[in-house]
Amino acid sequence: MNKVTFVPVNEPLLNGNEKKYLAECIDSGWISSEGPFVEKFEHGMAARTGRRHGIAVCNGTAALETAVAALELRPGDEVIMPTFTIISCAAAVVRRGCIPVLVDSDPLTWNMNASQIEARITSRTRAIMAVHIYGLPVDIDVVLDIARRHGLFVIEDAAQMHGQTYKGKPCGSFGDISVFSFYPNKHITTGEGGMVLTDDDRLAERCRFLRNLCFKQEKRFVHDELGYNFRMTNLQAAVGLAQLERLDEFIARKRRMGKRYAELFRSVTGLQLPAERTSYADNIYWVYGVVLQDDIAIDTEQVMRRLAERGIGTRAFFWPMHEQPILRSMGLFAGEAHPVAERMARRGLYLPSGVALSDDQIERAAAALRAVLR
Ligand SMILES: *Cc1c(COP(=O)(O)O)cnc(C)c1O
Repeated sequence: MNKVTFVPVNEPLLNGNEKKYLAECIDSGWISSEGPFVEKFEHGMAARTGRRHGIAVCNGTAALETAVAALELRPGDEVIMPTFTIISCAAAVVRRGCIPVLVDSDPLTWNMNASQIEARITSRTRAIMAVHIYGLPVDIDVVLDIARRHGLFVIEDAAQMHGQTYKGKPCGSFGDISVFSFYPNKHITTGEGGMVLTDDDRLAERCRFLRNLCFKQEKRFVHDELGYNFRMTNLQAAVGLAQLERLDEFIARKRRMGKRYAELFRSVTGLQLPAERTSYADNIYWVYGVVLQDDIAIDTEQVMRRLAERGIGTRAFFWPMHEQPILRSMGLFAGEAHPVAERMARRGLYLPSGVALSDDQIERAAAALRAVLR
């Protein structure tokens, strides 16, 4: 395998104003969270998603922890969420002493199956955590309707959905509290970074307070509550602002990538490809995932290994929350089965999907997968 020609699973594009804004940080000496880019980036993201407040934090996981903490749920309260997601979602709930309650995935969109939510509501349910997965949004109108009728909060995890819309409205605009991540594999990156968005003045104030160790205005070092140091630095925000300027271009690149992969796999049997669109959104392909169908005899890990031998980077799909050893050891999810998510976890993988991916790399990745499956 030639390292030089390896096609990585993700590579960001940092050739806009990133260097210029970073140089401003260095030249001015503003490198901590005190610098001016933090607020500029917060305002930029809030404007882009049509929200009143953006609160920048140090990563997407921290954004989820801040959001859950800000809602002041009590121990034993239940939060309904998809089983097919990243551990950060369940961890944020469990760390507050609350209980994740799971629903399975929709086999076509890979998002939480909104038709299963209502059956999981109990007298302890306080919130629904809607997580948009891989490029298509959750059917959020259904979620919002259930939440309204049952008096539940909606926590929206839009970490994979910068620039995506649902019926023309931006993802990140739907939750009582919504979060983004800016890890380098997201549509825009700050290296590490995250943000909480809300229209609620009081929730925003609580998020700012929690992010900054719960320091008060008066008697700064006397604490009534335990917070976190989840602050984003001016350096991260400088990169984020430069990235945000190019979001539309990045989404266009991702859509072109999705279209190209779909063309190259058109005649391949045994592969479930991402849905190109639903009635409410066109896919933005955060990642280009494929699910191996039953008529493909080789197992997923072997496919990934053979692709690596051909110089193609891949990544497995998420592993469902109800099959996580750490969560099971806490006594959660005993006896639960979510067959769609279980199958996706075992048969899904994603191909190189970064914004820097060239047409040539897409063709090489697709040719390698076709060869491995043949
Ligand atoms: C990436 C991601 C996160 C976590 O973000 P980090 O910045 O990596 O901590 C949370 N939720 C979803 C859906 C993600 O894709």
